[in-house]
Amino acid sequence: MSEGDSIHHLARRLRPALMGSPLEGAWNPGGRTRGRRWDRQLRGASVVGVTARGKHLLIRTDNGLVVHNHLGMSGSWLVRPHEESWPRPPETAWVVLRRAGRDVAQFGGPFLLLRTRAETLGDPRLRRLGPDLCVAREVDVPRIVRRLRDDDGTRPVGDAFLDQRTMAGVGNVWKVEVCWALGIHPLLPLDAVTDDELAAMVRWIAPRIQRCGRLGTHLRPREIYGRAARPCPRCRGRVLQRGSGDDHRPTYWCADCQPWRSALVGRDAPLATARRVG
Ligand SMILES: [Zn+2]
Repeated sequence: MSEGDSIHHLARRLRPALMGSPLEGAWNPGGRTRGRRWDRQLRGASVVGVTARGKHLLIRTDNGLVVHNHLGMSGSWLVRPHEESWPRPPETAWVVLRRAGRDVAQFGGPFLLLRTRAETLGDPRLRRLGPDLCVAREVDVPRIVRRLRDDDGTRPVGDAFLDQRTMAGVGNVWKVEVCWALGIHPLLPLDAVTDDELAAMVRWIAPRIQRCGRLGTHLRPREIYGRAARPCPRCRGRVLQRGSGDDHRPTYWCADCQPWRSALVGRDAPLATARRVG
């Protein structure tokens, strides 16, 4: 599943395969990009950067182009020595980049674009991204709490953390696990969660998601995600599950140690009132 840390880690893994000597070719076997002549634009160009912005992957070349990719729930990149066979049908790859005896292929996902650097910088999907929790220097906790407070106070706190315009990088697993770790019901309206709790959630996620971005997503905490109807590892209460948000993402919580509470807490608290001014 693609969350910010998986894309940052992917960028690290693709760098040695793509950076260095020029690309020897580019093919578009899959229907989405067929006929777009990526080979003409990319053959002979050198990759000068492979970076992640939230859940977006950006591959920059020295001739001013950017491969802009979002993997969504199901996309992937694979690297293989070019004489080796693929674990997936090669004709389903959206693009195959060849360099130094290796093929780097992209499969699935909602979009893959090749555009100029200026076009990419102007892309609203990138321009609207909030601070990236996977990048330590972007994590200004009070600023992120203010951004959360600008959101609709009736919105479930878990959904608010998934909104990439507020902060980038958090996906469904991180949302579920941070709420469990801090004993906060993920479906509580934002107005029922204090500023201190929101700050604690950001502070809990940031160092962990950055570590996974460096070292791999196998280090992600997985205490209750995917464990509906099983006992809570902390209190042995029952783990419940419900879809939440626009795309009905599965949300898990413990019936006992993540209790429901009234939204009045946040609305009446002095901090919460103060934030509405200015
Ligand atoms: Zn529990």
